[in-house]
Amino acid sequence: MKLNVKGLLIVLSGPSGVGKGTVRKALFNKKGHNLVYSISMTTRKPRKGEVDGEDYYFVSKAEFEKRIANDQFLEWTEFVGNYYGTPREKIETQLQEGHEVVLEIEVNGALQVRDKMPEAVFIFLVPPGKQALFDRLKLRGTENYAIIEERIAKAKEEFLLAYKYDYIVVNDDYDNAADRILAIIRAEHAKTERSIHQYIKMLGE
Ligand code: 5GP
Repeated sequence: MKLNVKGLLIVLSGPSGVGKGTVRKALFNKKGHNLVYSISMTTRKPRKGEVDGEDYYFVSKAEFEKRIANDQFLEWTEFVGNYYGTPREKIETQLQEGHEVVLEIEVNGALQVRDKMPEAVFIFLVPPGKQALFDRLKLRGTENYAIIEERIAKAKEEFLLAYKYDYIVVNDDYDNAADRILAIIRAEHAKTERSIHQYIKMLGE
């Protein structure tokens, strides 16, 4: 019997430099899940090695603003001088098809999703220590000093919003962090409020 299960939306967030991207990639490299990644749109210039349509959809400011006006984002934000946003339509289709959709976004966007889709699972990634975070932001080396300083200031602000999330996951090691996230997703599926409707429906068929 095929149950009509709507997919789960998983929001992976946390301060800039905590390693969200690395943990997300480790998560997708794991076996035994049905996760799909929501590719964001940004006006930031591609970094070396980044591919349009894989890492982001890279667009102009004018294009992004047109999409804001047309209400095409589930959430969007301006982050350190650039726009970032989650295209809405594809996610809605994927969830309807029963996929598990992962968003990897900063805190302001995550809180917008919390308002619109409170049934999503909100995970806040933290570094094992303050220094680790600052070192990572500096080591990335793709930005100039002023931008790094701005990102550090932003990361401190973002930390204060952790209490709004369902789970806190320590990124002491990206592979361990990915395992913890998978465990959270499995536990979320077993939650009574998410699964009981299926079983009631099954009994009625
Ligand atoms: P970066 O420029 O380092 O790729 O990303 C900067 C920040 O924007 C990161 O914290 C990243 O998670 C976040 N981000 C990426 N895509 C989105 C998005 O679609 N929406 C929001 N709100 N943040 C995003």
